[in-house]
Amino acid sequence: MHDPGTADADRLPAEERFPARHRFAEGAQFIAGRPARGTSGRTHAVVDPATGDEVYTYDLAGADDVDAAVAAARGAFPGWAGATPGERSDVLHRFAVVLAERAEEFARAESLQCGKPLKLAREFDVPGTLDNTAFFAGAARHLQGQSAGEYSGDHTSYVRREPIGVVGSIAPWNYPLQMAAWKVLPAVAAGNTIVLKPAELTPLTSLLFAEAATAAGIPDGVINIVAGTGREAGEHLVAHPDVAMTSFTGSTAVGRRVAGLATATVKRIHLELGGKAPFVVFDDADLEAAVHGAVAGALINTGQDCTAATRAYVQRPLYEEFVARTAALMEGVRLGDPFAPGTDLGPLVSHAQRDRVAGFVDRARAYARVVTGGEAPQGELARGAYYRPTLIADAPQGSEAVQSEIFGPVLVVLPFDSDDEGIRLANDTPYGLAASAWTRDVYRANRATREIRAGCVWVNDHIPIISEMPHGGYRASGSGKDMSTYSFEEYTQIKHVMFDNTAVARKDWHRTIFGDRQ
Ligand code: NAD
Repeated sequence: MHDPGTADADRLPAEERFPARHRFAEGAQFIAGRPARGTSGRTHAVVDPATGDEVYTYDLAGADDVDAAVAAARGAFPGWAGATPGERSDVLHRFAVVLAERAEEFARAESLQCGKPLKLAREFDVPGTLDNTAFFAGAARHLQGQSAGEYSGDHTSYVRREPIGVVGSIAPWNYPLQMAAWKVLPAVAAGNTIVLKPAELTPLTSLLFAEAATAAGIPDGVINIVAGTGREAGEHLVAHPDVAMTSFTGSTAVGRRVAGLATATVKRIHLELGGKAPFVVFDDADLEAAVHGAVAGALINTGQDCTAATRAYVQRPLYEEFVARTAALMEGVRLGDPFAPGTDLGPLVSHAQRDRVAGFVDRARAYARVVTGGEAPQGELARGAYYRPTLIADAPQGSEAVQSEIFGPVLVVLPFDSDDEGIRLANDTPYGLAASAWTRDVYRANRATREIRAGCVWVNDHIPIISEMPHGGYRASGSGKDMSTYSFEEYTQIKHVMFDNTAVARKDWHRTIFGDRQ
């Protein structure tokens, strides 16, 4: 096992990695184009999970702050909704330029608050966000709809796509910047205004994002950030009468609660929830590709990825070799300081999340085989929320390790015999966010993509996403799509406009009321 670690003496102090205290000295709320302090009377700490050191403590938003943010968004709505698509597109293009200029600052803040390797933030989180911004700048000018027509013969009908109003969004901590971008960009490109609540652990890059939007010329009040707890700020935002749409990304359990509150106040709801992605390896697969795909797909972002490969089903002839090679490859992955260039895997986002993951693995020892990992590293990494890449074999399909979202660097591997069985097992959890099929047979691949019930099915890869294509789940993984024009359309509402073309006072259909007196 390789732990390059970093001797504490070599480790740059958190303030030099990203000066959060200085950068957000005026508070962790961003309302009406300005930073502000939360007024809940309670504070929360952003902690570097690689060390456990507190890097920034902020005043949490309370109900009054949410009210102020919603009022700012409501006030900004008529002007922003009334801007032409070209005007919104122009300012979003400028936003993309400002983000590019500040890319390194975003990468450092994201790495510090999440513990993700700087190379991941630099090569995935930040470029993905830049591309999304450029995509939605273009999409702002491409609202699609039916063409106008005389469908009744006596009328001309057409469809208007209109913004919905103030969107209330809630984001998780695993990809704070990308989740903020996936919520904010389609909403504002379509002419809505937004109040976003980041996760308590990770508000920093959402704040940088809103600040960059203002610097780019997005009007005050169009993008507002409230950093508060889910129970207080989150629920107040979801239930707020002036919020027209709730867009939530997080766990399925919280998603149910959010859906209940949003339904009670009759809002449009968009839910991106948990996942438990299957990774199905047929017996004609390229084993080298499958093993590398499984390790990378399971460990990306320390396994805290809703689409991560979590359940590998491997057809019997390849099973033992897959288990041995996957374990060996996992053992070569280097845990260490997220800012060190040689680090492949950082800590989990918090010690609480690490302990939760360890709990799943410890319980699994009673019914399965922990092939590698299954422990936190010792030595200089022991202070951080680290956990070794873990492979669990031979767990029963109905067991917790196979059915529940662990959200850590843990892959479960199971054998299957027939193709029917592989696809049946892949579909046998409540989730349906993502999946992959590994085969060189086009008929098998085609069947897997048809029959696996998930919002995304990869063939011979697992993880890549792209701005032009939708991301979103089936079943307990939620409803609605992020990214792509599908997401853009969800942030609009459709109005049917119908013009009478006859100019006669007494229409034919009036007979249903006036009968022969027509
Ligand atoms: P979480 O559900 O605990 O929290 C998500 C957000 O909801 C946080 O901002 C939190 O403060 C807020 N929240 C908590 N309780 C709330 C309440 N009662 N009312 C309103 N808001 C509340 O999730 P997490 O632990 O931050 O993130 C991990 C989860 O997110 C995993 O389940 C993962 O699969 C999911 N996720 C899904 C996607 C997707 O696109 N489907 C993407 C990323 C993460």
